[in-house]
Amino acid sequence: MAAEAPLVSIRGLELGYPVRSGLFKRVVGSVRAVAGVDLDIRRGETLGLVGESGCGKTSLGKAMLQLERPTGGEVLLDCGGARRDLCRMRQGELREARRRMQIVFQDPYSSLNPAFTIYGSLEDAMRRYGLATRAERRRRLGELLEAVNMRPEHMDRYPSEFSGGQRQRIGIARALSADPELVVCDEAVSALDVSIRAQVLNLLLKLKAERGLTYLFISHDLSVVEYVSDRIAVMYLGRIVELAGTEELYSNPLHPYTRALLSAIPIADPDRARRRIVLEGDVPSPVDPPPGCPFHPRCPDRVEECSRVPPALRTHMIKGEAHAAACHLAKE
Ligand code: SF4
Repeated sequence: MAAEAPLVSIRGLELGYPVRSGLFKRVVGSVRAVAGVDLDIRRGETLGLVGESGCGKTSLGKAMLQLERPTGGEVLLDCGGARRDLCRMRQGELREARRRMQIVFQDPYSSLNPAFTIYGSLEDAMRRYGLATRAERRRRLGELLEAVNMRPEHMDRYPSEFSGGQRQRIGIARALSADPELVVCDEAVSALDVSIRAQVLNLLLKLKAERGLTYLFISHDLSVVEYVSDRIAVMYLGRIVELAGTEELYSNPLHPYTRALLSAIPIADPDRARRRIVLEGDVPSPVDPPPGCPFHPRCPDRVEECSRVPPALRTHMIKGEAHAAACHLAKE
């Protein structure tokens, strides 16, 4: 039986910004925030996207959603069996594609207008996409608030009347009000206290199961990503350097960068010691990335070839499962 087509296929995606300097703000260089990324998001999965801050994971999410227009590559969305490139869609088509792909931000306060009631903020997407009549909107938003463990009467209050955890649940309801298929959760629980974080994560998992959603879950926190993800992609300097199923990635990381990230996760069991791998130096500037493997200046395993030849993201079959890594030394 043929495998189902991915909901989204990203091919050679680029997002660059000009670097300006001087009195006349002349362009003196460019930054590749996303540097030729290939990635499939399968229907119904949670794909975790991890890496240190500044690695390009938020830029990748925004470029995929066309919140920032990519400077190259394709974002192919499955539209009833045909694959349509969002980067080349006209505004009208893009509007419908955007409805199908929503985002939950780290700081829900910034995406909720403080001058609007919750109803005012939430009914906006429904109205914009013509999803319900005016009379229906109130009923449907009440149901949505109940789905995120809030009360329907909360819709007449203002954002400032809620705690951080409640505001994030309202942010989730806002994303769901457009009836999307894919939700990008961009550091969606990073600003929350640990106990509230677990509640919101469990809520996201419940909503995914109930509504058949697909998630791209962006986070710098590997424990959180492990909890929610089916597969995980690791990013470094705008590139995917490793991609595998969650269990496989955590038990058998092939890339030295992933091994270093995993070694920093605290273990609750005192009998299980783990050797911490401390990386040398900071993440290099994306304005002037190192030649060869972009990780080589910090890599504890580098060999002579690493500073000259960029490693391709190669897929290995391990115990029947695809596991990709961009490292010259990665072996099955
Ligand atoms: Fe390290 Fe070389 Fe592998 Fe890059 S290619 S991660 S520098 S061993």
